[in-house]
Amino acid sequence: MTETEVKQMLKCIVNSGNPRVRYKMLKKIGSGASGTVFTALDNETKEKVAIKTMNISQQPKPDLICREICVMKDNRHPNLVNYLDSYLVDDTDLWVVMEYLEGGPLTDVITETIMRETQIAAILREIVKAISFLHSKGIIHRDIKSDNILLEMDGQVKVTDFGFCAQIMPQEKRETMVGTPYWMAPEVVSRKQYGPKVDVKMLEGEPPYINEHPLKALYLIASKGKPEIKNKEQHSPELNDFLDRCLEIDVDKRWSANDLLMHPFLKNCESLNSIVPLIKTVKKLLNK
Ligand code: ATP
Repeated sequence: MTETEVKQMLKCIVNSGNPRVRYKMLKKIGSGASGTVFTALDNETKEKVAIKTMNISQQPKPDLICREICVMKDNRHPNLVNYLDSYLVDDTDLWVVMEYLEGGPLTDVITETIMRETQIAAILREIVKAISFLHSKGIIHRDIKSDNILLEMDGQVKVTDFGFCAQIMPQEKRETMVGTPYWMAPEVVSRKQYGPKVDVKMLEGEPPYINEHPLKALYLIASKGKPEIKNKEQHSPELNDFLDRCLEIDVDKRWSANDLLMHPFLKNCESLNSIVPLIKTVKKLLNK
């Protein structure tokens, strides 16, 4: 779609009001490739929200923001960062208002703390619930990684960033290489046909080959087979089995998100409350 077509489509989707009346911008949280995220105060509900502002002419693929907003708008789930509203501002920028998750990204917690297996299981169960829900709607996320998992201060876990999503029919396959190199499944890198199981991968604090150049990482993902798991002997048999099911190269043998929800590793979880002290410590540590 051209920029003009995108703007026309957005006009049919967004709220036609002026967001500056309803929301008071507070602080910049951060910026990514597609835009900048701010905290804001909703003058009507008195709640804090997050607003992602995206300049349409600066998007390499402007139609991706249409997809992002449509996926967010049409799919609500307790484990997804939920969409609240959207606006086309000054005919140049798209503002997406969403729930604000004060605990920040899961990346901060996994890089700064050491979690017990039962805490890892608690977080994973929430993520797998979100993925299973998206897959049941025919949506492949294609960029599942800890930067795209946000935490609430009470321990809630929610998946975000739907800019790379694909909507498919049951049994339909995709073959475009999409996502972030280090986290891509082998079948995506090899440009084979793939389905929802590309979202079923795992993390170890950091992904395999993180110190390699992205192109070399792509080569290694495609050529090396299953990545080696560090300190395997220190993990429980349930965790090792869970990792094996996620990292299975053969897509037909790799467990689906629904299968994983039944895995014994996810049966032994602490409450989400148990990660609250970790979130608080990390926020203090990183001065966020
Ligand atoms: P992109 O995928 O466009 O490259 P990104 O994932 O790097 O972007 P954004 O999604 O633009 O980054 O988010 C920028 C920052 O804002 C990140 O630090 C992210 O954790 C934070 N953030 C995004 N949405 C929310 C939210 N709803 N609540 C709290 N923090 C958020």
